[in-house]
Amino acid sequence: MAYKTVNPFNNEEVKSFTSLTEQEVAAKIDQADAAYKKWRQTDFATRRAVMKKAASILRAKKAEFARLVTLEMGKLIAEAEGEVDLTADIFDYYADNAETFLAPEILKPKDGGTAFVEHDSVGIILCVEPWNFPYYQLVRVAATNLMAGNVVVVKHASIVPQCAEAFEKLLLEAGAPEGAYINLFVDSKHVGKIIEDRRIRGVAVTGSEKAGASVAGKAGECLKKSTMELGGSDAFIVLEDADLDKACQWGLWGRMNNTGQCCVAAKRFIVVESVADEFLKRLTACFSKLSMGDPMDRATTLGPLSSEAAAQEIAELTATAIKHGAKAVIGGKRPERPGAFMEATILTNITKDNPVFYREFFGPVAMFFRVPDEKAAIELANDSEFGLGGSVFSKDIERAKRVASQIDTGMVFINRPTWTAPDLPFGGVKHSGYGRELAKEGIMEFVNRKLVYIE
Ligand code: NDP
Repeated sequence: MAYKTVNPFNNEEVKSFTSLTEQEVAAKIDQADAAYKKWRQTDFATRRAVMKKAASILRAKKAEFARLVTLEMGKLIAEAEGEVDLTADIFDYYADNAETFLAPEILKPKDGGTAFVEHDSVGIILCVEPWNFPYYQLVRVAATNLMAGNVVVVKHASIVPQCAEAFEKLLLEAGAPEGAYINLFVDSKHVGKIIEDRRIRGVAVTGSEKAGASVAGKAGECLKKSTMELGGSDAFIVLEDADLDKACQWGLWGRMNNTGQCCVAAKRFIVVESVADEFLKRLTACFSKLSMGDPMDRATTLGPLSSEAAAQEIAELTATAIKHGAKAVIGGKRPERPGAFMEATILTNITKDNPVFYREFFGPVAMFFRVPDEKAAIELANDSEFGLGGSVFSKDIERAKRVASQIDTGMVFINRPTWTAPDLPFGGVKHSGYGRELAKEGIMEFVNRKLVYIE
């Protein structure tokens, strides 16, 4: 797709960008390679200074950075500001902790000698990133890899080009050398060719299963390590002993944050029968209070989706659900107004033969299921191709922990929806991908754990 800014609030094109030619991409990789040869030799203090500076610039220019997010993909302005803060926190976190994480591990070989494992850089990492958190997705790969001595070339999503450029400029302004972080405006069909370049030593993808499978296939063919952060259809389990007020408030946030366009959004509400009617009534009331409008306006609580195509896609998926027997207890269609909007929707009566049963709703549409008991809730939660996050609501924490251990996902949160923080490892299993970002695990993905043995 061509890189352009289209404001989803009114679907007006704001600015378009030219994609790089093959020769220009090759020149960028030369530049990254030259930068890598120097950057890998830098000490932690040098790298730390760049991360700290990037964090402070982000905080100082929060309004400017946030405005671009809202303009390009329609995130509510307060949420965009929250994303800028989180991005700064992740820079700080790796500035403060990378040296400890990457310190050599001393081994005590049983048969004598001494040994240690050091954590060396590996080279240029190619990152393919989505539009839903236009800076947060980038810092997860930039802060980790730059602190580890790698350099990155990034193919950002085609609908957020101004955010992509702003992030590249941010790192230059923070003191990263030219070439340490490179934004590539390239068509996704050229990504395979980049992976083939022998200087690319790893590939990180966040995006759909389709993009993940394509890039992972190519990386495998070229024998390059990859990490995949893909889609999800997280279960939000409400047991009969849950605090229903809390569950409803979090349910609203878990489904509607970022207009429902989070990989870890609460997409499937699985509620035990004895509290199902009450929970549905309260959740419907919460959804009905959302106020649709301009995401730049702080009074708006339901903004547009990221693009007209995204709005059409979720409206079609919702229509398919309804055609096959689902019932919309609220919403169910697109409103009659310009812009990439979709009504806040709750779907019930979704049977297993409904074609949407295993689909991911990437927008403000909740699937609601009632189950007889805890066992059935766990079974339904696991009846998914995805395995990213999930949550369990119960006042009995030991019980919730037992349920959490039986859910086949990379993350389970008790008494709140799945979310992210710099020091919590993020990632999934099954079709939600493999590998982890953030925390210590994130920085370990693209390092050479090199054994050094001394006789
Ligand atoms: P896409 O997978 O289409 O886009 C994500 C990125 O991948 C974009 O940069 C896109 O480029 C690129 N891309 C798409 N196809 C290919 C390909 N064949 N080869 C190389 N690159 C490709 O995702 P969507 O825009 O549909 O984003 C939403 C999806 O991403 C959802 O399924 C969601 O769950 C998932 N996601 C997962 C997250 C996680 O952390 N696990 C976080 C956010 C989203 P272009 O824009 O040019 O098409």
